[in-house]
Amino acid sequence: MDIIGILKDYPLCHRCFGRLYGKLLHASNYERGKSIKMAKAMELESKLYSLMEKYDDGNNEEIVKDNDTNHNSDAYNNNKENHIDELLLKIKEDLYYIRRSGLLEIKGISEEECPINENMEKNCPWCRSIFNEKNLKDILERALDLLKDYQYDTFLVGTTLPKDIKKLEEEIKTPHMESIRQEFNRVMGRLLVENTGKIVDKQNPDIVIKINPYNKKIELQVNSIFIKGRYRKLIRGIPQTKWPCNYCRGKGCERCNYTGKRYNTSVEEIIAEPFMEVFKGKDESFHGAGREDIDVRMLGRGRPFVLQIKEPKVRKANLKEIKEKINRSGSVEVLNLEYGNKGDVVFFKNEPHRKTYLAVVECEEELSDEELSKVVENLENSTIHQRTPLRVSHRRADLIRVRRVYDVEVNRIDAKTFELKIHCDGGLYIKELISGDENRTLPSVSEILNKKCKCKTLDVLEVHDEDV
Ligand SMILES: [Zn+2]
Ligand SMILES: [Zn+2]
Repeated sequence: MDIIGILKDYPLCHRCFGRLYGKLLHASNYERGKSIKMAKAMELESKLYSLMEKYDDGNNEEIVKDNDTNHNSDAYNNNKENHIDELLLKIKEDLYYIRRSGLLEIKGISEEECPINENMEKNCPWCRSIFNEKNLKDILERALDLLKDYQYDTFLVGTTLPKDIKKLEEEIKTPHMESIRQEFNRVMGRLLVENTGKIVDKQNPDIVIKINPYNKKIELQVNSIFIKGRYRKLIRGIPQTKWPCNYCRGKGCERCNYTGKRYNTSVEEIIAEPFMEVFKGKDESFHGAGREDIDVRMLGRGRPFVLQIKEPKVRKANLKEIKEKINRSGSVEVLNLEYGNKGDVVFFKNEPHRKTYLAVVECEEELSDEELSKVVENLENSTIHQRTPLRVSHRRADLIRVRRVYDVEVNRIDAKTFELKIHCDGGLYIKELISGDENRTLPSVSEILNKKCKCKTLDVLEVHDEDV
């Protein structure tokens, strides 16, 4: 690369010049930059001095021969003196560009020939003195001030660059260049470690400190914490997640008694509120491994969930105490609480788990024991074709799902009602498996018996997320 060419267009300070070779050698960018400039300047000075010596001795011809390999004899004989002046000027010009970029050690040109600005750094178009001690201290103090409200163990500095700096990096890019973003991350990261005692984590930091060192804008990205566990819903009538009022969409109106909610509470709210109180999050989001209908209980070992607490001020708390508080609600219980991560949410969304349900089935007519056995025989190990149920068709695509049923058990309650325990693929609609949903689900309990049946109550007994 042409060193002078770069310095002519961009008077880079030592540090920035060295950053062009940032991925070479174990040295600081400053050392690298200054060394290259010095080597080049020495080469030029030595040329300059030998040229001047010979000039003084009157050996003009020799000089021209040494320095001009392409000469045409007529031309140079006529312009010998001019030519030597040109050579001298060229070297001086090159030295000028190096000196202008802050290498004041150059002797070959005088201060008059290259007046130096007091603060070379400020002239550097790349760093614009962002590494200056006062600037760093300023940014550090403001970052510490923002951080003081948050509990965290790990952080990462994320430097953002203005557009024109990004453009400049594109223009001067070399194969071994380091972006100024990386260097600022490193420098500010080190200062923050020294001042906070916290650790840098590049993979999964608690807080990302976003800094634009040029305009000194600082913003914290406080990463969510994730709590995973399982919940049991012991009562019917509450939805899994917050359900805004249909009329006001959450703003609050006469219909919803100014609560903004269609249901007083939800599994989400019962679980999230005690967490939010302790972790002081800004918002939360509840991710369940599937969901049950409002009138369906969730029993057994419970349904897996992940609670995402956004921008928490506290990151560590006694989960056992929170669990006890939730469990005192009497309507929702949590178990197996532990800290999780973002990956757990994705896992839930992609895994349709098998389920075990317990339904109470009510038939319009009386049923014989043979008929009950027929239900078991026909459903066990069967394949169900289920068109999107009428009751959800307004919000779900109309398509035919194919789901397997594995085990089936029946227990008579009285002449017209019985319990149906069913182990099946996730995503099978049980209410429709019983009613038949106007022949949209086939086979169904109603179709097998040729008698109209409906699901009176339904419980999820098990979500088989670990073993089948
Ligand atoms: Zn610079
Ligand atoms: Zn409302």
